[in-house]
Amino acid sequence: MRYCQLGKTGLKVSEVGFGAIPIIRLSPAEAVRVLRRAYERGVTLFDTAHVYVDSEEKIGRAFEGLRDRIVLATKTMKRDARGAQEDLELSLRRLRTDYLDLYQFHMVNQEADIQALTGPGGALAAVSRAQAAGLIRHLGFTSHSLEMALKLVNTGLFSTVQFPFNFIEEDAATSLHPLAREGNLGVLAMKPFCGGLVEDARVAFGYLRRFPDVIPLAGWDSEARVDEVVDLYEGPLEATPADEAAMARYRAELGDLFCRRCEYCQPCPQGVMVTPAMLYGIVALRMGPAKAAAFAAKAMESVRLCEDCGECATRCPYHLPIPATLKKHLTLYEEHLGK
Ligand code: SF4
Ligand code: SF4
Repeated sequence: MRYCQLGKTGLKVSEVGFGAIPIIRLSPAEAVRVLRRAYERGVTLFDTAHVYVDSEEKIGRAFEGLRDRIVLATKTMKRDARGAQEDLELSLRRLRTDYLDLYQFHMVNQEADIQALTGPGGALAAVSRAQAAGLIRHLGFTSHSLEMALKLVNTGLFSTVQFPFNFIEEDAATSLHPLAREGNLGVLAMKPFCGGLVEDARVAFGYLRRFPDVIPLAGWDSEARVDEVVDLYEGPLEATPADEAAMARYRAELGDLFCRRCEYCQPCPQGVMVTPAMLYGIVALRMGPAKAAAFAAKAMESVRLCEDCGECATRCPYHLPIPATLKKHLTLYEEHLGK
């Protein structure tokens, strides 16, 4: 494993970090095993969030006594000072630490988020006080909106930016990365596996390795998956012509309007399983009609409950036309049922 500097934070981190959403689905003992495996293989950056259920507790448990050997990053969704302070205090307790290396404002996707964070009584004031008191070393943010991310980088308030960064979502590489470099911000790549749409680690990380100062946050749920990626990073990881061809196939298959599985659109008041239903077109391409219809039956049947209220679409950071896509997929599913 190689180590590099995370922008102007001056923190030295492993060139691939651990994104801790997947450990939510593991038992505490399993999660500790996977986290420790990553640490033993040289991973030093562990990124989680206040809202990732019990992920912070699991990390706290895994690294008790090893605090000075790792770099800990977490996030708050709160926009007000009081809420952010409460989140921070709880995160510190859960992570069993008295300081965080990086604290990020989570999912800053809209102008209203920025106004609330930076305005009177906003979270920025509380977090800055905590930073002055030594509870936080560096401030960062995460976003799914290119427009907001570019704006936040330009404020000069932050030391890191975390954004979807993979061979399908190339906005980060073409515009955000150059701007972040100019400001010497550390860049953390969320969704290196394209939000779970790509399983092939060689293809996913072959692309990311072109950006040596970008730190991908890999979501791991097993020791084998940790080994798979770290083994790649220990070798001469370069995308081969076959990997490039695979990337081109994925891009052609997914197009622009693909669902990134972020689940921000949920819950639906009618109980529609929005994310799996949004993915039905891709699943059908991969599995073929009959298998896809059986596999996604529960999700696709739930689409019949949709009342077209549009609530889900207002929450989608990618502005996907969710109700229309769900209807299209339902029609497709009904065609497939007959096959
Ligand atoms: S448009 Fe349909 S799927 Fe979306 S929130 Fe409303 S009822 Fe649920
Ligand atoms: S529809 Fe939009 S909000 Fe929902 S999971 Fe997909 S990308 Fe995320």
